[in-house]
Amino acid sequence: MPPKRFFVEKIGEEVTLTGDEYRHAHTVLRLGVGDEVTLLDGSGREVSAIVAKSEKGKFTLHVTGERPSDREPSADVFLLVGAIKGDKTELVVQKATELGVRRIGVFSSRYCAAYMNDNKLGRLRRVAREAAKQCLRSRVPEVEYYEDFSHAMSASRGYVNKLFACEFLEKSEGEIPDMGGSYCLVVGSEGGFTEEEFKEAKACGFTGVSLGKRILRAETAAIALLSVVMYRAGELR
Ligand code: SAM
Repeated sequence: MPPKRFFVEKIGEEVTLTGDEYRHAHTVLRLGVGDEVTLLDGSGREVSAIVAKSEKGKFTLHVTGERPSDREPSADVFLLVGAIKGDKTELVVQKATELGVRRIGVFSSRYCAAYMNDNKLGRLRRVAREAAKQCLRSRVPEVEYYEDFSHAMSASRGYVNKLFACEFLEKSEGEIPDMGGSYCLVVGSEGGFTEEEFKEAKACGFTGVSLGKRILRAETAAIALLSVVMYRAGELR
């Protein structure tokens, strides 16, 4: 069994594991002195360490080596998704993390019925961290919230390929490019988009894409578009 993985703020020669990560290591996994673990600081580094000391509420770990991570995708993909009701946004964050996105932006828009607050955003960030650990990533995707559609559009600045999943397009306006630099993808919430939002996205450089003749649920559309893009970018092979 490969060593268990833990995210920490900073990695020096000695690292202290506290809080949720400590509880997971100590109470759930029952690790103790002498056990080997992998430490991640979210930057892409993977560091080996040994539990050297166990005290109430914390482990002290000694770093023993470092190796490069070979699990991170080379494609830089940013997923912008409208906030979806219930726990569906969490599902999208979890699956997008597994599929290898670097950034996730959740936004509100004209027909969006879900709301976001600090607790929900914190929960989405924890979901991203857990998913990153589970799928052996060494980076946790950033998760941000944009209060309106225009702010989400501004966040797409600088991306090379910009694709907008538009439910009212009969066919895609262009092909999904192959391994062509960075990608920004936009998928709406269950309420979908207005014509004006689509026009605004086009003015920001987005190409409208159709995901076929059926209307997919927002979470299905996000996972489907991301899977196709990751495949085209050479990541699912
Ligand atoms: N309320 C909308 C309607 O009745 O037409 C449906 C919105 S759909 C559930 C949520 C989002 O998924 C859409 O805004 C779009 O981004 C994406 N989507 C779903 N089906 C799609 C399709 N066939 N083509 C392109 N995008 C699609």
